[in-house]
Amino acid sequence: MANIIDGKKIAAEVREEVKKEVAELKARGITPGLAVILVGDDPASQVYVRNKHRACEEVGIYSEVHRLAAETSQDELLELIEQLNNDPKIHGILVQLPLPGHIDEKKVIDTIALKKDVDGFSPANVGNLVIGDECFYPCTPHGCMVLLDKIGVDPQGKKAVVVGRSNIVGKPMAMMLLARHATVTVCHSRTRDLAAECRQADILVAAVGRPELITGDMIKEGAVVIDVGINRMPDGKLVGDVHFESASQKASWITPVPGGVGPMTIAMLLKNTVEAARRA
Ligand code: NAD
Repeated sequence: MANIIDGKKIAAEVREEVKKEVAELKARGITPGLAVILVGDDPASQVYVRNKHRACEEVGIYSEVHRLAAETSQDELLELIEQLNNDPKIHGILVQLPLPGHIDEKKVIDTIALKKDVDGFSPANVGNLVIGDECFYPCTPHGCMVLLDKIGVDPQGKKAVVVGRSNIVGKPMAMMLLARHATVTVCHSRTRDLAAECRQADILVAAVGRPELITGDMIKEGAVVIDVGINRMPDGKLVGDVHFESASQKASWITPVPGGVGPMTIAMLLKNTVEAARRA
């Protein structure tokens, strides 16, 4: 029976670390600042933005939320980003995605100054991640790496399989595991034999968005299973991309959903914001 990776507890530890780092920076006259931009009134995005703002306040990070109407033009948005790029109070800028259809997401992300790109989604940041230069680790995969570290699992020399190749989770996850000397396989919707690939994994990361796609028979005895998926079922229940019950019979460690990777994302955003302030 697998050990449970308690993401809630580990995220709380990270937030405590951040709180201390913020206090140290403040003692040197630097208050880390995060600007969050929300365009439109998507209810889920509103919740995410509110949570990010609250999390900043709790650790002493200055945070401002810019709520813009859904019909805001791309030029207006870009102008705001430019202002924030030049605002010394602000060390991190985050544009909540998705954006309304008339706005070019890529152009927007590209406009955020590299040193303030705490989400880590800009092409330049991703490029630095790939070549191993100073960069911001995208928050969700960064959170997964911290979970591995906190349970004492070193990826070096291990076989890691990442299921999902999105730009925000799967690809950066694979790069981070590679940087830590794992042998990495990335699987996706056209992978021929997903089960066989997964069964090779000492570390298995699922970031697919398909409820309980990964079942116990696809997991190697003793593997560490990190489930990034968050899927809401018709009955309102949240489940991951991994079938928890069967997988936990095989794994040595496993993240639950909810309470695994989920709480780590905001904690890592706070961490990146403090890092941005320190570098500035
Ligand atoms: P995405 O839809 O952008 O990417 C999904 C990936 O899964 C794609 O690369 C696709 O090729 C692959 N895929 C789809 N079907 C597959 C199949 N049958 N077999 C193998 N691969 C398949 O999703 P995303 O943004 O990477 O998010 C993935 C999941 O993680 C979602 O459930 C999302 O809600 C969750 N998520 C959680 C957090 C968090 O915990 N804070 C953050 C981001 C995403």
